Amino acid sequence: MTPSTLRIGYRYRPNRLAKKYDALVIGSGMGGLTTAALLSDLGWKVCVLEQHYTAGGYTHSYERNGYEWDVGVHYIGDVGAKTRTRQMFDYLSDGALKWAPMDAEYDRFYIGDKIYNARAGRQEFRDNLIRQFPHEEVAIGRYLDLLTNVGDALPAFAIRRVLGFWQRLLMSPYLWLKSSQILFKNTYDVLSDLTDDQDLIAVLCGQWGDMGLPPKRSTFLVHAMIARHYLYGGFYPIGGSWRIADSIIPKIQAAGGEVFTYARVEEIVVDDNAVTGVRMNDGHFIECPCVISSAGIGNTFQGLLAKDTSGAADYTRRLENVEPSYAHLGVYIGLQSSAEELGLPKTNFWIYPDNDFDAAVDRFVENENEAFPVVYISFPSAKDPDYAERHPGTATIEIVAPAPYEWFTKWRDETWGKRGEDYEAFKNHLGERLMEYLYDKLPELRGQVDYYEVSTPVSTNWFGGYQRGELYGLAHTPRRMQPTWLRPKTSIQGLWLTGQDILTCGVTGAMMAGMLTTTSIVGVRKMAPLMKRIYS
Ligand SMILES: Cc1cc2nc3c(=O)[nH]c(=O)nc-3n(C[C@H](O)[C@H](O)[C@H](O)COP(=O)(O)OP(=O)(O)OC[C@H]3O[C@@H](n4cnc5c(N)ncnc54)[C@H](O)[C@@H]3O)c2cc1C
Repeated sequence: MTPSTLRIGYRYRPNRLAKKYDALVIGSGMGGLTTAALLSDLGWKVCVLEQHYTAGGYTHSYERNGYEWDVGVHYIGDVGAKTRTRQMFDYLSDGALKWAPMDAEYDRFYIGDKIYNARAGRQEFRDNLIRQFPHEEVAIGRYLDLLTNVGDALPAFAIRRVLGFWQRLLMSPYLWLKSSQILFKNTYDVLSDLTDDQDLIAVLCGQWGDMGLPPKRSTFLVHAMIARHYLYGGFYPIGGSWRIADSIIPKIQAAGGEVFTYARVEEIVVDDNAVTGVRMNDGHFIECPCVISSAGIGNTFQGLLAKDTSGAADYTRRLENVEPSYAHLGVYIGLQSSAEELGLPKTNFWIYPDNDFDAAVDRFVENENEAFPVVYISFPSAKDPDYAERHPGTATIEIVAPAPYEWFTKWRDETWGKRGEDYEAFKNHLGERLMEYLYDKLPELRGQVDYYEVSTPVSTNWFGGYQRGELYGLAHTPRRMQPTWLRPKTSIQGLWLTGQDILTCGVTGAMMAGMLTTTSIVGVRKMAPLMKRIYS
């Protein structure tokens, strides 16, 4: 598999558009592509409009200096067996997407000077934790039971987002039976009911970076979803994360649709509270009564709709009660030896200054010279068995760490690559600090690095179309997870939402949001045969 270029999709030009589409999708991330692909399978002709030079949103990859990096896919869980997640990926990609397992130790947690890890498989995960915390067997067992309880409650949680008011009322006994107050409690409170051991709590929350909030601020629901997601280990898309979009797009094209890149939507045009189409940034108007926005709820209601759109007022008010997720720094590293030669692991490293994750975040936000509250290191070329075919004799490493958006606001309106020396100096300083975390854990790499570059929250805005460099769209606080207004159907006729903001972050979260949006648009009756095909 040798991609000549990682620019997936077809460059937008007004004269390349078909005369008529059944739906327009804004954004080609996992949420947008899933919705487009499922609608295509139901016979709809769908046009996906992506502002970036390549399709995929956070699943895209990019190449520079002979290296290839992913930007928002480091590992996916739940695809090692015939699970619902795997069946959906198989369906969307017609089986083209293949997965490589990571090491059995998929996550390693450096907490202060202690080292813990998570191992693949429910029993192995449990036994391994008990080995590390022999006096906490009961708490560990109860924790795993809670994960099961949350798993049982998830379908009802998702269904609530599709049902209308009266349907919700009708189904309220079922929804009540399946829901549990524990879902919306904060993670730390739930875990401290199980144990007083702060190291054990820290280890159980060692993946907090996967949803972007430390335990005292996050919802147990999302904590449990992520822990369950990776319980049977981590997997990497063979060929790189760009293969996700690349393998889904043919489904959209087969139904006469297309995925256009360099296609920035400037405005969703609404007349008399009904969508009539979108205006592109070249001024061209694309007419269509059905528009699905996967560009994030903030972008949609605060950026793409005219201020006086009546149906938008409620959302603008409600958006004041939710907050954007943290912004992040990325370091993209290239080395002139293969992952095998360098002995790079298929294990993610999570590095924490100590076991109080919330306090570490507060310290860092107050003072940038404090230790990073979490540093995540991933070894993509080691995880991808095809990488060596595409880029022989080289390896890549990626580092991700949080960074307050406010540190970068003064450069937010500057053009990428032209933000000036002070910006370059600041980001290089942060990059150098992050590189030291890598050398601290793998000192043998010092002197081996051929190239690295740093991305900041304003890079996320530039490439991902975000407003505040959001790592995961809206933050997963209890306040965000409870309300049912974060759902596919909006109060504007013909305007639908999809992607991570209407369910949860993660490639799988955005994919499942795509399924919910499709169900909302076509109705359960039309969706049922398709679901049968997917889950046969
Ligand atoms: C650093 C990082 C690491 C991550 N690691 C993992 C991981 O290991 N595993 C995992 O499961 N998840 C991971 N995630 C999360 C996951 O990638 C996202 O939650 C998911 O891909 C979001 O999908 P989405 O479709 O909702 O949004 P996005 O992928 O952000 O797609 C939105 C799209 O809309 C486009 N857009 C915005 N405005 C416009 C406009 N006006 N016109 C046209 N297009 C527009 C954007 O360019 C973008 O392509 C990670 C995320 C980050 C940032």
